[in-house]
Amino acid sequence: MGSFADFHARSINDRDAFWAEQAKLVDWKVQPQQICDYSNPPFAKWFVGGETNLCHNAVDRHLAERADQPALIFVSTETDTEKTYSYRELHAEVQRMAAILQDLGVVKGDRVLIYMPMIAEAAFAMLACVRLGAIHSVVFGGFASHSLASRIEDASPKVIISADAGSRSGKVVAYKPLLDEAIQLSAHKPANVIMVDRQLAPFTPVAGRDMDYATERAQHMDAVVPCVWVESTHPSYTLYTSGTTGKPKGVQRDTGGYTVALAASMPNIFEGKPGGTFFCTSDIGWVVGHSYIIYGPLIGGMATILYEGLPIRPDGGIWWSLVEKYKVNVMFSAPTAIRVLKKQDPALLTKYDLSSLQALFLAGEPLDEPTAKWISEGLNGKAIIDNYWQTETGWPILSICNGVEKAPSKFGSPGKAIYGYNVKLVDDQTGDELTGAHQKGVLTIEGPLPPGNLQTIWGDDERFVKTYWKTVPNKLVYNTFDWAVRDEDGYFFILGRTDDVINVAGHRLGTREIEESISSHPNIAEVAVVGVADQLKGQVAMAFAIAKDASGLGDATARLKLEGEVMKVVDKQLGAVARPSRVFFVSALPKTRSGKLLRRAIQAVAEGREPGDLTTMDDPAALQQIVDQIKG
Ligand code: AMP
Repeated sequence: MGSFADFHARSINDRDAFWAEQAKLVDWKVQPQQICDYSNPPFAKWFVGGETNLCHNAVDRHLAERADQPALIFVSTETDTEKTYSYRELHAEVQRMAAILQDLGVVKGDRVLIYMPMIAEAAFAMLACVRLGAIHSVVFGGFASHSLASRIEDASPKVIISADAGSRSGKVVAYKPLLDEAIQLSAHKPANVIMVDRQLAPFTPVAGRDMDYATERAQHMDAVVPCVWVESTHPSYTLYTSGTTGKPKGVQRDTGGYTVALAASMPNIFEGKPGGTFFCTSDIGWVVGHSYIIYGPLIGGMATILYEGLPIRPDGGIWWSLVEKYKVNVMFSAPTAIRVLKKQDPALLTKYDLSSLQALFLAGEPLDEPTAKWISEGLNGKAIIDNYWQTETGWPILSICNGVEKAPSKFGSPGKAIYGYNVKLVDDQTGDELTGAHQKGVLTIEGPLPPGNLQTIWGDDERFVKTYWKTVPNKLVYNTFDWAVRDEDGYFFILGRTDDVINVAGHRLGTREIEESISSHPNIAEVAVVGVADQLKGQVAMAFAIAKDASGLGDATARLKLEGEVMKVVDKQLGAVARPSRVFFVSALPKTRSGKLLRRAIQAVAEGREPGDLTTMDDPAALQQIVDQIKG
């Protein structure tokens, strides 16, 4: 085992040789001619001239050696279903789905939108798309009609694959009415909708548009659909994420770079071995789900568990029972889930045989020290590995790479810059690099971004450049929009976002999107949404609104009624994930004299902190109202 410092240095200083070596981990139909083309910064092209296929690398290439080994283990504690698909069976299911898509005219480059709960068919759908060179766009099942509509409109899919319903805590969540409404709202209409009917929520198919998956599948039981070899730079998928405007950004990923990045991450970061089992508790609607429920483990020849349900149902031991049953080696979850488990009986952590488990990876939001300590002690000193990344990057930016060199974790830190990432902390005002220990700066990455990172924003190169690369003064660097410090050992500590993005239970939400939704209520004149620290979810959204007609709002019942109505609007348009925890009514919002909302001051007082410099504030009484509301 070499040193991690050398490994990292080589990935930056001898970039092409380093990644040429990693590229050997995957199958190519045509070998790349050039490793990295960065002649047009900040657009990086990886493995130029190479031809490959993501589905081939995730499924087909394993048939020779591990056809009968488990590939996909579907577990639903919502419907009490457990079903294991071997690589051979997964291969057959993916070809059936691909054949249905082919029948509907889906070809390379077409978009297919996937709006599905956590069921095996969602994995078949994703793999079938990339098999054909079609570009999938998975939309999180917790999003409602408006969020879905804006994504349909932006991705303009030929086909949508969906299901009648999801289920949460035993309660059926019907998807079809939300989907129908979203298609109605969207200017773009898909030609067809493939419906997986779980028989959870009755629905009426739209004639000529909707098709039943089971019926179609039955026609294609013996389907043979070869992988379509695509250029390395061909987009594999888009995934929408929130930014500072109301319009979500379609993060666009390539094929070859992503395949190589995930393939390399398995031995180097996760220490996942072929034949082992990976259990990632995220959702296919998020980037972690794309990379580490579906593609990463399968590329690595592992079995992957796709879990529908809560971590505490039927009880708080369910995940650990799955670790025992399926001999899970690598587990990946989010701090919020661990905080939820922390409220359960600690004996559940020692009830099952966890000897197979090597490490628990946690990402998506800051991992607080008490939670890290609790789980580390509860799991008897197993490695707990905090890692930091973003939808945009597709795989971790910061972590420790035990597969390269064993390194200790430090509580509160997601670790060091991973190979391939040339991370720099910079001064937000001058763009100057901060090299000293414990200096607070903006975490940036020097181009080219490593393989697997976003190529651009779908259909909007200009927004890609403007948003990510032109926001640090005097420098063309990728901005993560996170504050951070680094200690003398090179370990980073993330201190929160520099922009208006908030993180609720590991879910990234734009406050602007929530504000736009709330403003659509007929009695709301203006609103500010901020993220407020929360013990369980990390942050929650809190809204401070000015009513158009506030005449009745002196009365607590009337306030509660309007608050409930506002929450319903958000539920209906964006989904319950975006619902603010509270909506307070005020007569003015704190602003600067030039009319800019003082979000940081609002957030500070909502968290009971000092508001900071208020010399530019227009109306001090407005901030006092917020303090009073919170206290009240
Ligand atoms: P998403 O794109 O939804 O994965 O959200 C990315 C954002 O989540 C980052 O920009 C960070 O603000 C936050 N984040 C992700 N992982 C971590 C981590 N390990 N520690 C602290 N913050 C994190």
